[in-house]
Amino acid sequence: MPVATAAVVLRSVDAPPQLEEIELRDPGPGEVLVRIRAAGICGTDLSRVERGDPRMPMVLGHEGAGVVERVGAQVSSVSVGDQVVLNLAPLCGRCSYCRRGLPNLCTSTPRDGSLLTGPTPASSSGDPIAVMAGAGCFAEHVVVSAASVLVVPDALPPHVAAVIGCAVITGFGAVASSPEVRPGTRGAILGFGGVGASALQAARLQGADEVWAIDPSSERRRLAASFGATGVVHPDEAADPLSGRELEDGLDWVVVAAGQTSAVNLGLRLLAPRGVAVVIGGGHGPHDLDLGRVVEGERVLRGSSYGTLPPTEIVPRIVDSYLSGELALDRLVTERIPLSSIEYALTAARASAGLRVVLNP
Ligand SMILES: [Zn+2]
Ligand SMILES: [Zn+2]
Repeated sequence: MPVATAAVVLRSVDAPPQLEEIELRDPGPGEVLVRIRAAGICGTDLSRVERGDPRMPMVLGHEGAGVVERVGAQVSSVSVGDQVVLNLAPLCGRCSYCRRGLPNLCTSTPRDGSLLTGPTPASSSGDPIAVMAGAGCFAEHVVVSAASVLVVPDALPPHVAAVIGCAVITGFGAVASSPEVRPGTRGAILGFGGVGASALQAARLQGADEVWAIDPSSERRRLAASFGATGVVHPDEAADPLSGRELEDGLDWVVVAAGQTSAVNLGLRLLAPRGVAVVIGGGHGPHDLDLGRVVEGERVLRGSSYGTLPPTEIVPRIVDSYLSGELALDRLVTERIPLSSIEYALTAARASAGLRVVLNP
């Protein structure tokens, strides 16, 4: 029987997204119905609201967690009652990247707002509504592919499970997949939101000697210090303290978690010859990429998408580190707001004074 559910739908770039009652079809073969308990607001959601999306109308939200309420046919990986994290890199099992264990590069991932296993599950008065990233979790319920959920222990609070699904996988994974971040090295995190905070903690766990945090927001720099950054710097002043006498050779690595080309260039400027810049977000802004800096000094520019490592491998590591007290994931969530206050929540996320705003349906 289809489910009626409240969901945040973006219909036009000229109007804010609204909470609407929509209908979700039954989970088909290889699909599950999940009751969402928490969903984080990510920069990608905000950019959809600001710039629109060709797939509109679309249910927003891709970072979430909840409880499985129903399973379709041919589902054996999860059961009713399991707590699950939404996984944005489901293994299709068919393409050459998935066969090599690289589901984050999957070529079968639908780009049209549907699911890996079938058409979009959402509709309103019979008209289909796309779901963001195969999820659309700013909603009370979602129907998703079973490959798009990962079971996590009930000991995880829902708001922590939610932010694992995008911010933590992205930031933690970028560092965990970078052998350059190791004892005896010095590095910096550029951009200190939920992703940057995850990257910083991962770098600490991997034993890097120094991890600087660079962010224009004084509130976020204060947070970075509380998360154990070696030092915190405003980007306009970053070249100075970090190129001082003790760091005259530059940094061994930087993780660029700010979506600006200027941040990538700053990272390149701070790097020692042969240093590595791991770019998680970038490409926006009026600046040209400083390719001269890449060539001279043989610096390496490497992208990391959704944590690089397969979510099936990295999520258990994240969960173990959280449960053993090594990862402070509760502190990534700086505000929890009811789904019904979506407009206020988006404003709070845009103001970006804290780290992650989480919605509770
Ligand atoms: Zn995201
Ligand atoms: Zn694939």
